[in-house]
Amino acid sequence: MSTVEDLIKILKTGDSSSSRLAILPYFRKNSSAYDFDLIRLAYDFAAEAHRGQTRKSGEPYINHPLETAIILAKMGLDQPSIIAALLHDVPEDTNYTLVEVEKNFGPEVAKLVAGITKLGIIKYRGMEKYAENLRNMFVSMAQDLRIVLIKMADRLHNLSTLDSLPAEKQKRIARESLEIYAPIANRLGIGSIKGELENLAFPYVYPDKYQWMKKDVLPKVELKMEYLQSVIKVVKKELVANKIKFISVHGRQKRLYSLYQKLIRPQYNGDLTKIHDLVALRIIVPSIGDCYQALGVIHRLWKPLPGRIKDYIAQPKPNGYQSLHTTVFCLEGKIVEFQIRTIAMHQQSEYGIAAHWHYKETGKTDKKIGEKGYTLPKKLNWIEDLVKWQKNIRDNQQYLHSLSIDFFHNRIFVFTPEGDVIDLPEDATPVDFAYQVHTWIGDHCVGSRVNSQHSPLETKLKNGDVIEIVTDKNRKGPNRDWLKFVKTGAAKSKIKSQSEL
Ligand code: MN
Repeated sequence: MSTVEDLIKILKTGDSSSSRLAILPYFRKNSSAYDFDLIRLAYDFAAEAHRGQTRKSGEPYINHPLETAIILAKMGLDQPSIIAALLHDVPEDTNYTLVEVEKNFGPEVAKLVAGITKLGIIKYRGMEKYAENLRNMFVSMAQDLRIVLIKMADRLHNLSTLDSLPAEKQKRIARESLEIYAPIANRLGIGSIKGELENLAFPYVYPDKYQWMKKDVLPKVELKMEYLQSVIKVVKKELVANKIKFISVHGRQKRLYSLYQKLIRPQYNGDLTKIHDLVALRIIVPSIGDCYQALGVIHRLWKPLPGRIKDYIAQPKPNGYQSLHTTVFCLEGKIVEFQIRTIAMHQQSEYGIAAHWHYKETGKTDKKIGEKGYTLPKKLNWIEDLVKWQKNIRDNQQYLHSLSIDFFHNRIFVFTPEGDVIDLPEDATPVDFAYQVHTWIGDHCVGSRVNSQHSPLETKLKNGDVIEIVTDKNRKGPNRDWLKFVKTGAAKSKIKSQSEL
């Protein structure tokens, strides 16, 4: 059982050895960023407010906000977030109000708590509420991403204590986590939270599939992990022999839920032997140069499978993911995937937006949101676009439909001629691409070249395509016929609004 001392210890020393989030202290700035007396005061305030309340499991209620704060402390979040996490259920569930929170802990903490409270009120009940919940989530994200991160931590802890709830409620919370929280965590690039949410929710949402995975699939994954141990020995020896520095060489096991999702795709059809990244060998090194050198070492040891070398360092995924991937015929001729990255890239992939926490002290941000100086990193402009765009859609059914296409549907990654990555939903067309790049380009596009070939505007784009848009400044605006093939809500709404003028 955790105590506030544990929380303070984590904040002071970065000691979070018990958790999968253990690598986080690498980017913790320094413990002097925290006022421990104030954190203790916040804990005492929350403990007093929740006094006499218990969780369904019978334990004191305060354990829940405390565990939520501990998850965030391990993520290296700032002090207002930690305090807000301790207080997050106070206005909703106790006799203390938001005004009292603000009086004691200031406007910044109060704003975060208010944001979390607002998100909490709308529960997942039916289509209408679901859509409403999503809308609110995005509005909060654009206001202050910390609100969503606190909500994620809150949800993680609730999921890990689902056992004591009635079955129906278990299922609702778990499903909501899979359908709302995990995709958002994924979109923010927080792989560790996405994975943990999914793994915790999986047994409740798909109990039969979970049992099957656990009984039939997991043992095979574990066997492969054991095999990796001998590969790790060879790799380490070879890296040392070649004088390549490394921080860690370890096996990573694909999480059960994402493995399940991959297995049920038609091209795998439940056949485990077709999946090459069941387990992967990760090499974490100090610098980018070391990444390429390590790749060279691996390819000298074992032959790579053709077409499976991916340089996500030179061409990062749009959510910021960077690594070198290769798949080789390894020891005993077995197929093994390698992922090679720097420690900074590793943190980025595990903690996404939280990994390079742009708050106040950094000057590398673009847009000011609110008077508190909270800024969104440039990559997350899409959140703001989404909020602007969703304001125009009144009908919840339609909203959900377009959202699932724009946001949650499988994405493809295409390139501008300059090599910028643009991410689009599957089956998007050059017109979607044009509007994604700039409204003016969309409104004035007259043709497109896909991989240097003239291609019709309704061409379905594929991963990796390079798109060039031909524009004509004399064009009077978009063609309504485009509505028949465009995929993104953004393109649709712009075409509609322009052609009505
Ligand atoms: Mn809570």
